[in-house]
Formats: sequence, structure tokens, C-alpha cells
Amino acid sequence: MSTTQDFTTFGSWLKLTGQLELVTPLRIGAGQGDEFGLADIAVVKNRQGEPYIPGSSFKGVLRSSIEAFLRTIDPNLACLCVTTQTGFDCPTTKSPEDLEAYLAKFKDEDDMYLNGTCRVCQVFGSSGLASKVQIPDLRLAEKWLGPYQLRNGVSIDRDTETAAAQRLFTIEAVPAGTRFTFELLIENGTPADQGLVLLGLRAFEQGMVALGGATSRGLGQVKLTVDHCEEVSNDPKALFDFLVSGTAQEVDEQARTAKIQALRQEVMPHA
Ligand SMILES: [Zn+2]
Repeated sequence: MSTTQDFTTFGSWLKLTGQLELVTPLRIGAGQGDEFGLADIAVVKNRQGEPYIPGSSFKGVLRSSIEAFLRTIDPNLACLCVTTQTGFDCPTTKSPEDLEAYLAKFKDEDDMYLNGTCRVCQVFGSSGLASKVQIPDLRLAEKWLGPYQLRNGVSIDRDTETAAAQRLFTIEAVPAGTRFTFELLIENGTPADQGLVLLGLRAFEQGMVALGGATSRGLGQVKLTVDHCEEVSNDPKALFDFLVSGTAQEVDEQARTAKIQALRQEVMPHA
């Protein structure tokens, strides 16, 4: 079976829908980092002035938290996708100048996928490999009643650790209790690929991930609730049934846990 996306046959997919609720206010920002210099998710406003969370932005945070988790098991499981690393054999870590020579080492895409690509990039994509994960923008689950909350802060000079000439700034935040719709699609993933993504989402379900910058001040705590999960596997019978009835197979909590166990078995075979 091909390990990369092959458009000549029908691939499996798994779709998950739910809601992301703000436990504490979520800062509106460009995602370029907060006053502490931490890069983080972008939360932006649409033309109507309503807040939404770009799916690509959410995906970046999800990917980082999976990377961090896998690296605690084994640093070789996940490259640091944002930096050029030497001595790490994953295409994502190659600079544009080195990439062509690097890619030439492999027979084909499957060869690179199996021998050069780290576990996270196999699922989330890298230079030359499409991502198996799609997350549409997270939009308001109900009508926006506003208003945004304004919070004042004082920026701190990191060298002197004093309030830099009392530089006041204002943070605009989406109020706690606001809910966004959440949808995620995994295409052509193995059970362990799916388990990797589902494991990352568990951290959001357990309220362990904060978004939006200024998180050290208690902002941006979120909680994900999964309402529904369904899949169509590569199994010809499942595909046939889906095409005839339009009904995918439900993936309940137990089945999701089994996929996470498939990943565990793969990355921690002796534990
Ligand atoms: Zn990688």
C-alpha cells in the first residue's frame, strides 16, 4: 500500500466535529508573538468584526504540542519544524538551498516518506509531502453579541526587568464562554496516524492548551468538546456501503482510544 497520498485510488478519511469553548478570554492578535516574544496562534476578525480562529493557525499549535509530546518519548520522532537543524534527517529541517540535493537521495516519495521524514511531518506534511490533516477556520458557533473586552497591561523591559517607561498597552480579547465550531479531517491516514492527531486533540479536550498570547496572564484557556467522529476506511466493503448509503462508520470514544493505542504501540513498543 502506498504510504503517501495517491489520487488514483480512494483513500480513507476520518472526520471529527466539535466545539472549542473559551474558558478564559482569548486575546485578539496577529499571532506574531505576545509581549514576552512567544509566537502563538492568530485570532483575527472577519469583515463583520466577528472573531474567528484560522484553521491553519490552530493546526500549527496542534502540531507543536504533538511534536513536544513525541520528543519527550524520543527526540528522533519529531523534528523541530520551525528551524533549520543539522544532523536531523527530515525534509522540513532542510534549508531551501539544501533541499534539492536532499530530495535527490530518495527513489520516490514513498522512499522519502519512510526513510527521511519524521513521524509528525509524515502526518502534517513537509517540503514535498502534502499534509494529511485539514482544519477549516473555526467560526463562531452562535451569533456574536460582543463586545470585545479591553484589558490593560504594562510592557516589561526584559533586560532590566522593569516596566519600560510605564509603556501601557491594551489587549483586546474575546470573552470567556464564546464557542467556536471545530472540524478536522484526516485523509489517507493509518490508524496510528489518526491516533497521533487524536492524541494531540486530547490535550485540547483536557483543557491543557492555551491559545492566543498573554497565556501566562491566564488568558486563552480553551476546552475542546468532540461531538461526533466518523470514518470511511480503505476497506472495499466500507467504501461500498458509504457510496451507496452516504453513511460513514461512527468512531466512538473507545475506537478513538484504540487508534491512540496503535500509535503508542508503534512509538513505545516495549513500554
Ligand atoms: Zn519533521
